[in-house]
Amino acid sequence: MPKKVKNTTFPSPFDLIAPLSCRGCGTIGTALCNRCKNYIISNHTAICPNCKEPIINAKCQKCINLPPTYIIGERQDLIGTLIHDYKYNSIRALAKPLAEILDEILPPFKSPTIIVPLPTISKHIRLRGLDHTLLIAKHLSKLRNSECSQALVRAHDTVQVGTDHKTRAKQAQNAYTIANRFIPNPEASYLLLDDVWTTGASMLSANKKLRATGVNHTTIAVLALSRIN
Ligand SMILES: [Zn+2]
Ligand SMILES: [Zn+2]
Repeated sequence: MPKKVKNTTFPSPFDLIAPLSCRGCGTIGTALCNRCKNYIISNHTAICPNCKEPIINAKCQKCINLPPTYIIGERQDLIGTLIHDYKYNSIRALAKPLAEILDEILPPFKSPTIIVPLPTISKHIRLRGLDHTLLIAKHLSKLRNSECSQALVRAHDTVQVGTDHKTRAKQAQNAYTIANRFIPNPEASYLLLDDVWTTGASMLSANKKLRATGVNHTTIAVLALSRIN
């Protein structure tokens, strides 16, 4: 079966000029300047990733089974560029500003809140030289003075090749498993973190797996919503 390989080596035009320049305005010396970061924060719109309707207090009136969900925005414009450069061009310096944006958007944590990054395929970590979701989770846990737990692990190191909801949902069902050493805290709140919501299959499966261990409170945080289908 032919493998679907994403182009991970094509540099952004900014990289050809200066390795560290703001992805939004080109200001030298920072991967994302404060002005562009604040622009993203002030333009943040609360939408339900599942039905794409506006939501209040992170809860969708229609999708009642979805845990409270926070998304920075659509995967386009500057957010799209940031995710692309962070993930595919391995611009590690973007992890901190992305965590800072999440820190601004997320409400105060109920104590204790444990951040759980969705695990990345190990082949991708090797290729990119960074575990992008874990790195953001670590920065966010520092900012919020909360624990970061790799409660979920990849059951299979496979890529989701299908683009339709049904195919991805089926693949996602078995993508994650609970780490052997994980001990659930039924009193704690768990913040599931991922970079992109496409069909939501990965996130919903991760949420289900975590809750099945005895976890009672989960919240979802995703950098961007991608509308491919
Ligand atoms: Zn800028
Ligand atoms: Zn909804």
